[in-house]
Amino acid sequence: MQNILVTGGAGYIGSHTLVELIESGYDVVVVDNLSNSSKESIKRVEEITGYSIKFYENDIADMVAMDKIFKENNIDAVIHFAGLKAVGESVEKPLEYYKNNISGTLNMCEVMRNNNVKNIIFSSSATVYGDPVEVPITEQTPKGICTNPYGWTKSMLEQMLTDIQKADNEWNVILLRYFNPIGAHKSGRIGEDPNGIPNNLMPYITKVATGQLERLNIFGDDYPTPDGTGVRDYIHVVDLAKGHVLSVKKLIENPGTKVYNLGTGKGYSVLEVVNNFIEASGVDVPYVIAPRRAGDIAECYADASLAKKELGWEAKFGIKEMCADSWNWQKNNPSGY
Ligand code: NAD
Ligand code: UDP
Repeated sequence: MQNILVTGGAGYIGSHTLVELIESGYDVVVVDNLSNSSKESIKRVEEITGYSIKFYENDIADMVAMDKIFKENNIDAVIHFAGLKAVGESVEKPLEYYKNNISGTLNMCEVMRNNNVKNIIFSSSATVYGDPVEVPITEQTPKGICTNPYGWTKSMLEQMLTDIQKADNEWNVILLRYFNPIGAHKSGRIGEDPNGIPNNLMPYITKVATGQLERLNIFGDDYPTPDGTGVRDYIHVVDLAKGHVLSVKKLIENPGTKVYNLGTGKGYSVLEVVNNFIEASGVDVPYVIAPRRAGDIAECYADASLAKKELGWEAKFGIKEMCADSWNWQKNNPSGY
């Protein structure tokens, strides 16, 4: 298990995972169509690691191009980040989301099978739990009704990959359900770089802190949580990246299909995140209380004990470091890459 194909490797989580893979001694090949990223992130990963990355600018749905990638490289496993991820946009463009995420993944799996590469680690999300029936959420917590097409693509792809493995036990499928990744690499050279006005909390906060946005809208303060604002399990992207390295190690055991929550196990409210950010950065973040956002849930945090037991993985960074590292990235790169 030495050569890893990273799809979507130019993106936020992919670029951080490249650093951790390379620093753990793996060889990496990247395919990304750059629909939501720039090649600059790859250059910066090379700068951080001193490793020269083989990069293919292709769409994962392009079976001819993908076949060439597998033929030219002796790939052992795929870490599959490539996908569209904007919740609101997925409601506006469901066809594009289902086509890109689902058809793209199925085309790629067919090419994988043709090339006898049957190890995949898939980026899933806590969104598959819908409005969770319990917190903390374990992997046994039933999946729920997703509130948007993006979430459904994750839920459906989990099922599809599970079925593919069930029918052919040469496959190994690790489904990683991420909670809320924030933060950035310590160097401040790579980080999250959303297009336009951010939808997610932390990139919105950092843009308010640089003065590019006037104030944060806190979506609802009347949830059944201690301070009324929504509670989430924020996880440092470097911790998340390390979870992928340990998942690659797990593949050696031929584990079949495995599902892991990757979170810290601790929930923070929107107000707690804002206050921690202000403390960590020393910069004020003006905010107003706004109406609830459609589709939002009150609370979502992980029981991450299975990943600890079976992968030996545990989040190390706390909320202060997450805030400090998000800020370090944004202040050094106010307009992103
Ligand atoms: P990102 O948009 O930064 O990275 C995804 C990358 O995939 C981008 O570089 C994009 O250009 C590429 N891509 C998209 N469609 C492609 C295609 N058809 N062919 C080739 N490349 C394609 O997103 P991210 O935050 O790094 O997320 C990575 C993965 O993790 C995604 O699958 C996302 O849905 C999932 N995820 C993210 C979060 C989060 O909060 N960031 C939470 C849970 C799950
Ligand atoms: N949130 C907010 N203002 C924003 C963006 C997000 O108050 O501009 C809140 C949102 O309602 C949720 C939390 O921050 O309670 C995390 O939202 P995000 O979109 O980052 O992640 P989600 O958990 O929805 O995937």
